[in-house]
Amino acid sequence: MSDESRSPLRALVANRRSTRATPPAAPRLHVALWVCVALLGLVLAAYLASLLVRPGDPYWTWLDGWVICAVELSGSALCIARGLAGRPIRTAPLALGFGLLALAFGQMVLTVQSIGGATPPDSSLADVFSLIFYPLAYVAAVIYMRGDVGSLTPSKWLDGSIAGLGAAAVCAAFVFHGMMKDSNSNQLPAVTTLAHPIGDLLLLSLVVGGCAVLPGRRKAPWLLLAGGITLAVVGDTASLLQNSFGATRAGFILHAIAWPVATVLASMAAWMRVRPANPLTAPKPTGFSVPLCAAGAALVILVLGSLQSVGRVAIGLSAATLLVVGIRLLFSVRQIQILSHERHRQAVTDDLTGLSNRRHLFVVLDSFFTENDDTLAAGRSLAFLFIDLNHFKEVNDSFGHPAGDELLRQVGARLSSSLRHSDLLVRIGGDEFAVVLVDGDAAYAKQVAQRVTDSLAEPFLLDVVSASISASIGIAMAPADATYGAGLVWCADVAMYRAKLGNIPYAMFERALDEEGDQMRRLEELQAGIAQGDLVLHYQPQLTLGTGEILAVEALLRWAHPRLGLLPPDNFLPIAEEGGLMDTITAWVLDEAAAQCMAWRENGRPLSMAVNVSPNTLLAPGFVEMVRSCLDHHDLAPENLVLELTESSVIEDLDSVARVITELREVGVLVSIDDFGAGVTSLAHLSSLAVGELKLDRSFLAGLVGSERERESDLVRSTIELGHAMGLRIVAEGIEDRGTLELLRQLGCDVAQGYFISRPRPANELIFRPRMSVVRHQPASDGRGEDPGYFGPERRGLVR
Ligand code: C2E
Ligand code: CA
Ligand code: CA
Repeated sequence: MSDESRSPLRALVANRRSTRATPPAAPRLHVALWVCVALLGLVLAAYLASLLVRPGDPYWTWLDGWVICAVELSGSALCIARGLAGRPIRTAPLALGFGLLALAFGQMVLTVQSIGGATPPDSSLADVFSLIFYPLAYVAAVIYMRGDVGSLTPSKWLDGSIAGLGAAAVCAAFVFHGMMKDSNSNQLPAVTTLAHPIGDLLLLSLVVGGCAVLPGRRKAPWLLLAGGITLAVVGDTASLLQNSFGATRAGFILHAIAWPVATVLASMAAWMRVRPANPLTAPKPTGFSVPLCAAGAALVILVLGSLQSVGRVAIGLSAATLLVVGIRLLFSVRQIQILSHERHRQAVTDDLTGLSNRRHLFVVLDSFFTENDDTLAAGRSLAFLFIDLNHFKEVNDSFGHPAGDELLRQVGARLSSSLRHSDLLVRIGGDEFAVVLVDGDAAYAKQVAQRVTDSLAEPFLLDVVSASISASIGIAMAPADATYGAGLVWCADVAMYRAKLGNIPYAMFERALDEEGDQMRRLEELQAGIAQGDLVLHYQPQLTLGTGEILAVEALLRWAHPRLGLLPPDNFLPIAEEGGLMDTITAWVLDEAAAQCMAWRENGRPLSMAVNVSPNTLLAPGFVEMVRSCLDHHDLAPENLVLELTESSVIEDLDSVARVITELREVGVLVSIDDFGAGVTSLAHLSSLAVGELKLDRSFLAGLVGSERERESDLVRSTIELGHAMGLRIVAEGIEDRGTLELLRQLGCDVAQGYFISRPRPANELIFRPRMSVVRHQPASDGRGEDPGYFGPERRGLVR
């Protein structure tokens, strides 16, 4: 355990100084010190016994004088030792120790003056010594508290003030009152008489205030200190009362025992251990009991003051205590108001974006539908837009969740800037947002959908990368499409899904089209589609830059949907993945691609075939075996098959993926890292994998034509060189123009793939003849615009 945690008093200031590690005090030293404290305790107990049993004449110089001097000296020595044992030396126990030493000296002077039964003078060196104690004790108390003061809330300050003022009021009611009764003395004693109770009063206020504000585990040593000082004040009060009302036995005993006990308690506090707070548990709030007692005491003093004289100082302090209690109450009421407001705000706010959340959405919708039956009857309408971001998961996977969060925040801000103040924007969860347009009609809803789409057009800057994101929006109208909240959201969701599938920015809910549109139906459709052969493969040629020949193709999946037409993989592979269809699909793709590859080869085209594999499928048991049997079945040599794995999926589960890649390598199949450079992985990450090819992502090459051309070229060149050094074949993807193609050739890239060479096409529409000089335009077979030509348009129809 550290020194900080051994000493309670040091723990009090630990949070201020926690950076300075101090070596633990030797355990033996600790034991020795506690033995000393215990001995002092025994001596004091024996002394108390002697006070109780001794006969009439009370003052024995050797016992009441020298023994007490020895006890007080020992107590102060223990405190000083604590201060010196700290590294660096601790000021607080030192100050307290020297204060107690001054007290002990005062006691020694008094003892000397009392030798032979003499009466000590009213004022002497003894008073000077005992007055030195107070400033040193304040310094110690303030230093002990200092570490906690910074973290005190205004209410804690008020609690501390109430406790301190209350304690001062009680002290004043007794001590000052006694002093006033005893005021028929000359000038000098009056000053010292005044100094003692004022010193006591301030010290008591300070320690009682500290008790009220310090949290639980810090309080233990502080309570000891406060106990000691309270006892000392009581002793002083007893002494004053003795002077005012005549000596009593109880007063004598109290006065005699108070300061020695206080000294020992203070030295115990200085050495007390406090276990450090467990950072996992919330700190216990400090209790109300101390300020409550103080307020009660102040009230009692005021009541007493109306019946008999308790002194103006006590009345003033009590009134001040109650005034602060009043302020504290007002403060508490205000805090409760703020808290309940904040609770409500949190309940209806999305933490990430600060927009309204799903709960608030349903409150609004439900109140529109239920409470506003009249408004529906009055022909009021509501338009609801369900906004789902496209490919958000890829941003999350490639750039990490913090970037994903940042993107959502920025999207939230853009969406709200495209709306009217009266429209409600909500983040439903994940990458889904919604807009409620009260009194909005379909035309206005479409306008808003378009504005939302436009607002996302500009790329988003995320830390160091920029990401483009689009949205699919479904629009449903109330009460036309639904007459309850969840129904309306469902309708808009289904319409959104159709927009996503159809690759259009937004779609209005249409019962005829959308009734079957939910995910389950889509999954069923896909299942049926697989069974009835609606999946088709298109192939995109890969150009070997060294020779200008097409030596490979990549198989890319499409779904020939009976109603929606030819769907690209992004539109249905996520559903397949979620619905557990991916293994079946991959098996089909492998089989179909292997068959096509073999057909080409048998027709004198020595092509190899690249097939995309999703990570779950790759890691599924029996995958490698399936690949092997597929190759066997088609009699295709393993080196003619390339399996492409996206960079992000490899990184996600590096160890397991590495194992399967090695197994595939043993079979003889080459593994390629797809979409390299779209994420944040470095080549070094992949160096441990038995991969044979790297496909540079389109986004990685995008800078080659921009203003940063020089720098980007260097980056691509060095990546290619590094890849070559690792024995990898480098494929550049997404080449759309001649300039990039030429540049990549110069940079040493091995293979190029992209619309400029050829769009992905059905096998029978592929053109293989290299024609570097011809650049013509040709409509794309998947209807996605024009096909800039690396190959001329004249050749068609080579399949098997
Ligand atoms: P990918 O593996 O990165 O495939 C390349 C994608 O880029 C294809 O999109 C292709 O049409 C497109 N592309 C090719 N050249 C260019 C170009 O010059 N410019 C632009 N802008 N794009 C170009 P596609 O066919 O829509 O496929 C999308 C993704 O779907 C693929 O990305 C792949 O990750 C996945 N995918 C496709 N087929 C399969 C499959 O059979 N199994 C699995 N698991 N995933 C597949
Ligand atoms: Ca690929
Ligand atoms: Ca790719």
